[in-house]
Amino acid sequence: MKNINCEHCGALINVENDIKCPNCGAPYKNNKQYKEYLDYKKKQDDLDLESKKINNEIKKDVYKTTKKITAASAVMAIFIALFAIAIVSTIIYSIFKQTENNSARNDLNIINTNDDNNDNLQDILDNLKNNEEEKIVVSFNKTANTEKFNITVDKIIKYTEKNFSKKTYYGFHINFKNKTDDWKRLNDIKLVYIDNEGDEQTAKVGTVSTKTLDILATEKTTYKGYIYYSIPSYVKDVKIVYDNVTIKINNYKNKIK
Ligand SMILES: [Zn+2]
Repeated sequence: MKNINCEHCGALINVENDIKCPNCGAPYKNNKQYKEYLDYKKKQDDLDLESKKINNEIKKDVYKTTKKITAASAVMAIFIALFAIAIVSTIIYSIFKQTENNSARNDLNIINTNDDNNDNLQDILDNLKNNEEEKIVVSFNKTANTEKFNITVDKIIKYTEKNFSKKTYYGFHINFKNKTDDWKRLNDIKLVYIDNEGDEQTAKVGTVSTKTLDILATEKTTYKGYIYYSIPSYVKDVKIVYDNVTIKINNYKNKIK
């Protein structure tokens, strides 16, 4: 379409290279074919422009859509994150709740160490806890009644040996009523405490003079006397354990008379 015919001599004119007819030198500004060529070219340019515009529109649309998708993804991501947080929170909460229950129980024990009024409550709780095993738990100065015997720890004293070793023992005053026809060996009354490692230990029964050699409660009688134990100085809480009875004595040193 870039070639037209000269209206004067009929020779071919290339409108992109020739400024006039290469054969006769006539101008072609008013050439009919040339005008058609200009019209065609203008239409082509307009088309190009239009398609460029369309392309830009499409690009804009794609950009907008992408932005929308990105925004939607962000919302989705937030939802997923919230959901994950909810799950993790639930797990943490349930763990915390469990810990809280345990520490509440511990708090109760701690309160107990300084307040005798709470001893009864603690006894009830401990008895409920141990009911299945038919264990009896009492606190200091409270009597445990069983079918076979009654036992009470009602006094604690500190005894330091007079000899060079100056060993210290703690005497726990036991009130033991034997309800059976059998003799009871009271050296079997154990003192239990938790050591620094968190392990349960049984205190050694002291052999202070002849006081704690062999204590026997004869049939159907009541024994009243001290049993001496050697207890590490860091220990605060102890338990006197005999048969199915546990006598919990928290902060036993505060009860020394
Ligand atoms: Zn010509």
